[in-house]
Amino acid sequence: MILQAMRVALPPAGAISVQRRVRTLLSSGIDLLFPPACATCGKGGQRICATCAQLVTPVPETICIRCGHVQMVRQVACAQCQAAGPSPLARVRAAALHTSPLREWIHLLKYKQRPDLAPALARYLAAALALSDWDDCRARIDTVVPVPLHPQRYRERGYNQSELLAAELCRRAGLVLAPNLLERQKETRAQVGLNALERQANVAGAFAARPAAAGQHILLIDDVYTTGATLHACAQTLQEAGASEVSALTLALPAHTETS
Ligand SMILES: [Zn+2]
Ligand SMILES: [Zn+2]
Repeated sequence: MILQAMRVALPPAGAISVQRRVRTLLSSGIDLLFPPACATCGKGGQRICATCAQLVTPVPETICIRCGHVQMVRQVACAQCQAAGPSPLARVRAAALHTSPLREWIHLLKYKQRPDLAPALARYLAAALALSDWDDCRARIDTVVPVPLHPQRYRERGYNQSELLAAELCRRAGLVLAPNLLERQKETRAQVGLNALERQANVAGAFAARPAAAGQHILLIDDVYTTGATLHACAQTLQEAGASEVSALTLALPAHTETS
């Protein structure tokens, strides 16, 4: 019932793909007229130049494999994960720390109409997925699903930044993108400024999954991973729809946990 209503609310798939093609054509035309410049230092040639790209801080090796948070030593499941018990998310991994200049690039991508930065940023996702952490599950990933925006937010922004990142990751890694497998059915307030419990309540029941999720090993993609409330809610919804396993990869992890 809810999904039926959402299908009406969502822009038709064909319209989105036309929008995408027009945007790609426009951006290639704009590149010819105005060659790209680095979003940080302004150097001509690339949207993110090689020098600025090196300023990104990778997530250290000393993480909890299950939740992806930085620990004193590398471990399979940190004390917090053990205390929390079974999770619908088999594992979460961020590519880099949410520090300058990556933080500014993500801000431009999300809030300043710079979807053109997504391909350069997705390189970090591809590099993270190639790490040995994923050796035991990379080949089992059936589909890549971006964390969806509410249709209203999508219309305002014109794109879903996580979908752009996921699409480029799929292109680079030879994976299959399923942008419509998960939908956001509830407009949620921004998570910034909320504590962990408030974040969980804010996203509870926010998502709906299509039946095609059944039996799939899904890799969720999002831009920033804070408490994981959004990813957890997505994974829960996909599990309820019968997904066989859900993992998540995000672009950035806050250097210090924002909430405790
Ligand atoms: Zn630069
Ligand atoms: Zn953990």
